[in-house]
Amino acid sequence: MTTKPDCIFCKITRGEIPSRKVYEDEDVFAFHDIQPVAPVHFLIVPKIHVENLYDTDMRHQALLGKILGMTGQLAREQGCQDGFRVIINNGKVGRQEVYHLHVHVIGDQVPLWGMGRR
Ligand code: 5GP
Ligand code: ZN
Repeated sequence: MTTKPDCIFCKITRGEIPSRKVYEDEDVFAFHDIQPVAPVHFLIVPKIHVENLYDTDMRHQALLGKILGMTGQLAREQGCQDGFRVIINNGKVGRQEVYHLHVHVIGDQVPLWGMGRR
């Protein structure tokens, strides 16, 4: 499995930086965003280090499908009963801050558009 020593989200998945865990299995790790934009705001990341969707291709099909496929159940478990928003920021124009692929799941009073704060 490929992780990057100095990547903040790799460190979180390895347990070297504490986080409020939502879910974990052999492929993915989900945790609450440290600066939530809504009452429910967590991130789902692959355990392998992938920068963003520029770095993925069809070899990542199963992993990406798995991550997207678990959003609904996790969102429900976290209290989103009436819908939620899924955001993936990619690169500079996509306002990506942390360069380890992550899926934002935002729910319960979702901001009017996107991340709200930027
Ligand atoms: P993006 O890269 O899509 O712009 O967003 C990165 C997200 O990661 C931000 O919403 C930010 O609050 C969150 N974040 C950054 N550093 C940490 C951290 O150390 N712990 C947690 N839980 N979230 C973080
Ligand atoms: Zn990483």
